[in-house]
Amino acid sequence: ADMLSSSKDMDSASWKKGEPVPYAALCQTFEQIEGTTKRLQILDYLVKFLIAVIRQSPESLLTVIYLSINKLCPEYEGIELGIGESLLMKAIAESTGREMKKIKADYAEIGDLGAIAMNSRSNQPTMFKPKALTISHVFKTLKDIASLSGNSSQKQKVDKIKLLLVSCRNKEAKYLMRSLEGKLRIGLAERTVVVALAQAIVLSRPDIKKLSKEKLQVELEDAASVVKSVYSELPCYDLIVPALLKDHIKGLQEACKLTPGIPLKPMLAHPTKALTDILDRFESIPFTCEYKYDGERAQIHKLKDGSMKIYSRNSENMSNKYPDVMERLHKFAKPDTESFVLDCEAVAWDREQKCILPFQVLSTRKRKDVKEEDIKVQVCIFAFDLLYFNGESLLREPLEKRRELLLTHFNQVDGEFAFAKSMNSTQIEDIQTFLDQSVAENCEGLMVKTLNGTEATYEPSKRSRNWLKVKKDYLSGVGDSIDLVVIGAYVGRGKRTGVYGGYLLACYDPDREVYQSICKIGTGFSEQDLEDHYKELKEHVIPEPKSYYMLGEGNRPDVWFAPVRIWEIKCADLSVSPVYKAAVGIVDPTKGISLRFPRFIRVRDDKQPENATTSEQIADMYNDQKLNTVKNGSSLGVD
Ligand code: ATP
Repeated sequence: ADMLSSSKDMDSASWKKGEPVPYAALCQTFEQIEGTTKRLQILDYLVKFLIAVIRQSPESLLTVIYLSINKLCPEYEGIELGIGESLLMKAIAESTGREMKKIKADYAEIGDLGAIAMNSRSNQPTMFKPKALTISHVFKTLKDIASLSGNSSQKQKVDKIKLLLVSCRNKEAKYLMRSLEGKLRIGLAERTVVVALAQAIVLSRPDIKKLSKEKLQVELEDAASVVKSVYSELPCYDLIVPALLKDHIKGLQEACKLTPGIPLKPMLAHPTKALTDILDRFESIPFTCEYKYDGERAQIHKLKDGSMKIYSRNSENMSNKYPDVMERLHKFAKPDTESFVLDCEAVAWDREQKCILPFQVLSTRKRKDVKEEDIKVQVCIFAFDLLYFNGESLLREPLEKRRELLLTHFNQVDGEFAFAKSMNSTQIEDIQTFLDQSVAENCEGLMVKTLNGTEATYEPSKRSRNWLKVKKDYLSGVGDSIDLVVIGAYVGRGKRTGVYGGYLLACYDPDREVYQSICKIGTGFSEQDLEDHYKELKEHVIPEPKSYYMLGEGNRPDVWFAPVRIWEIKCADLSVSPVYKAAVGIVDPTKGISLRFPRFIRVRDDKQPENATTSEQIADMYNDQKLNTVKNGSSLGVD
């Protein structure tokens, strides 16, 4: 796509300068995007629209961004859409006068409430034409709807949805319904929105037409990487969008920095298969080993005003889950600390035996509104990184320096707060001993990290090769675990009568926004697991697979589920399969990849469906395995 052309035909906005942006204009852009699968084309449509917004109604840019990613606020504020299907069908029925029975029948056939709302509307004679919807009105109403709770909230929600629906024209009802459901499904990934935002800011500059094509290309690429990196450090469009409008790309990094109170996206690690992988990777680069604690990630913030917050791996506010830890936080920081961001793992702790307990024990702790007196499982916080200290971001400092500051300004408190155990020797024998020791102390293995130099900075949101994870299980050749979404189940027979006997799982393709089937699973479940899964998942049965499930011919479970639950799975190896769709098009043009001998490990309730292992990661694992087979002359799993 020629970006210059987008900046030229920009004056064709369908509304006047200073006027509110019509919802129809946004929906038209959504429709264009939905109509193509070409990534550059998608980007081009969105960039054009954003330039128009920046030129005509810049105050609406933030709302447009939120509507395009279908969110209402930063993740850590926790207000989400995702209105249930039955409530939406009720709103469609009441606003169009159609019978509920017919709408249900349509839904069973078409499976897209958006299309049903749109078609139902066009059958309706209209007596008067209601005022056109604006994006600010739609967004405000969506926010109101999501914030409603309590007894009469169902009816209030339906009423608000009805009011919006009667004002919808043409395609608006379709996208409105999908927004309400919490899934836009037009093939627009959030990363594309971030890139489009960056490019639109550059292209709406008045002097831009003077630049040569080559220079422009460089500017566009730089802008995208600046906005992406700032977003991973400060994931808050409320701050980034106004800063972009005011200070442009140039001033963004100065204006938007890591800030206590806003959880940054955590740095992640690459898996390894053998200790020798570590030496291959780091060769002459200094590195350090730490225990890999098996609990849940906890990002602990102290704000300038003295208040404290704990956030999860997913930027959820967990302060209510850990009132006991919140209570003790002040003890861990020395008096000279005003503000900080710590990266830690919260681990279940046995106070009598003074030892770490397995993750399974931690997962029995309640997730919300925990009362201190009811807490049965104690936790100890293991701190492994300091990302911000007394007004300064430390992200660009090497680990050695960050660790030194952590050790200097914090206190260890027995059984409550400790520094992650570390060891700096780079001798393979020492690493092996340290690994064995970590396993003996109930840890998952080791994290191996670059220690100093430019490769030892903290890289928010990246799965970086500067952090390697060595899990005890890999070494027996089983491979890394995989996190998959449960999309269907098979009715149980024999001993499993009354519960589901097996399940159909899927990985996620964030580019296409689809879940791809990957395997059936029936092993690894305790009887209690089978009962718990049945009880939970039967509430999420849907009549037909979602339109965004990519399935093979033979994928025919007895019931389908909405994508709500992630499970951690292990398997013997991966193979190309004509029956499943995982990573189709990457390794083979028509065949997918499947897992052989999958086993259930645990529920991952710290991950949302979109955080499932991606198709690309599955393809990488498959390719790595092939490489190893060639290298070792044996298949994975037989070391
Ligand atoms: P998994 O936790 O299943 O390995 P993941 O995708 O959640 O997968 P990874 O990047 O694979 O995350 O592993 C890093 C995780 O390990 C961190 O998110 C953190 O919760 C945990 N962890 C435990 N000890 C450490 C440590 N010393 N340094 C960094 N992370 C640690």
